[in-house]
Amino acid sequence: MPDSFNQFDLNKQLLNAVEDLGYTSPSPIQEKAIPVIMQGHDVLGIAQTGTGKTAAFLLPILMKVKYAQGNAIRCLILAPTRELAVQINEAITELAKYTDLRHTAIYGGTGSKSQIEAIRAGLDILVATPGRFMDLYLKGELVTKSIQYMVMDEADKMMDMGFMPQIRRILEVIPRKRKNLLFSATFPEKVERLSQEFLEAPMRIEVTPQATAAATVEQELYEVPNFRTKINLLGHMIDKNIDLTRAIVFCRTKTIADNVYKFLERKVVKENDVRVIHANKGQNTRLNSINAFKEGSVKILVATDVAARGIDIQEVSHVINFDVPVIYEDYVHRIGRTGRANLSGVAITFMTPSEAYHVKKIEKVIRTEIPRKPIPSEVNIPETPFEESQEMLRAIDDQRKKEDPDFKGAFHEKKAKNSRPRTSKKHRHNKKKR
Ligand code: AMP
Repeated sequence: MPDSFNQFDLNKQLLNAVEDLGYTSPSPIQEKAIPVIMQGHDVLGIAQTGTGKTAAFLLPILMKVKYAQGNAIRCLILAPTRELAVQINEAITELAKYTDLRHTAIYGGTGSKSQIEAIRAGLDILVATPGRFMDLYLKGELVTKSIQYMVMDEADKMMDMGFMPQIRRILEVIPRKRKNLLFSATFPEKVERLSQEFLEAPMRIEVTPQATAAATVEQELYEVPNFRTKINLLGHMIDKNIDLTRAIVFCRTKTIADNVYKFLERKVVKENDVRVIHANKGQNTRLNSINAFKEGSVKILVATDVAARGIDIQEVSHVINFDVPVIYEDYVHRIGRTGRANLSGVAITFMTPSEAYHVKKIEKVIRTEIPRKPIPSEVNIPETPFEESQEMLRAIDDQRKKEDPDFKGAFHEKKAKNSRPRTSKKHRHNKKKR
């Protein structure tokens, strides 16, 4: 499967963790950066949050650092803020869950006692803000001689925040012979200078989120309470909208794509009017479906991003985001499929409460607010099933925690009190560590 994570030389532990996270195929930055880092090159990556850049540098590093060894850190990841340090550390927790690697995040604005304890217990990977790193180094708590990998994430922000002096000092106290990765959302002159100082013959990798969606695309967003409403709304649109002549329906996972396909085939369109493509479909089946859609004999194509990436389908009247993409550039890619060559097109997005977080971030990337539309009165809006509303609350909690590491998680707390058994994986990991 050329577009899956199997194309990289990653071990089973990492591939299983990637699968658990539900990543079906690498994002563009991952596709470019992972092989290059695996080969041992220094990398300069120009990429924003939302591109999948964290896993792009973590996966090859986890592969190299491999398993717990000795007590001194072998990989140092610098981040400008406590929030980002915590987020990176959480990503390591998830990606390294089947390994015995030890890692933690250290940052200022809080006591250093528990951070020092974690360091003394032995670490393979350390995520740090520059100030706190230097503090603890000067206290003699950090042994730097084994550092082989150094990552600077959001270098532009670190420089804007005035961390350059600390970064210079850090570079003086870590071994010269090491691999370096530098990631930055923008590439102003000062970052260029830093990269020249810091990186050795780097490979430059850039993913440019096209910040503006095609001007000919009309965007619409529907706020829906649950999955069933998405299904009903989709059925209504395909059935009732005479302008909808050829549409791609994007789904987050293979399972959702299959369910949407089955529903449309059974209830909405004629048998041969809809096809589904995703990574589990054989290459031939996929090509057949794409060709039939291109020729116009199939009206609706249900797809995951993976399956749809790179295929050139022109003149689509509607793009329907059945799920909000979590790789934010995918939104731009998805809606770029309509409104091509001066044809006007409509891009419709369905958003549940737990997806609002991602829509906000997408709106930041495209620098516009997507106009909200009311759900047509003919569409049936069923009650949200208990399990689904729990899932959503859990997701919203996790999002709030991402934004504010101090947020304890109202939902999880409540659950703990009622001693219900299911907590999210992420939460279980956090608990274990504390
Ligand atoms: P980042 O740009 O690293 O902050 O990642 C943005 C979001 O995309 C995070 O929520 C990741 O968990 C998610 N993500 C990263 N890589 C992938 C992938 N290959 N497929 C789906 N989601 C991903």
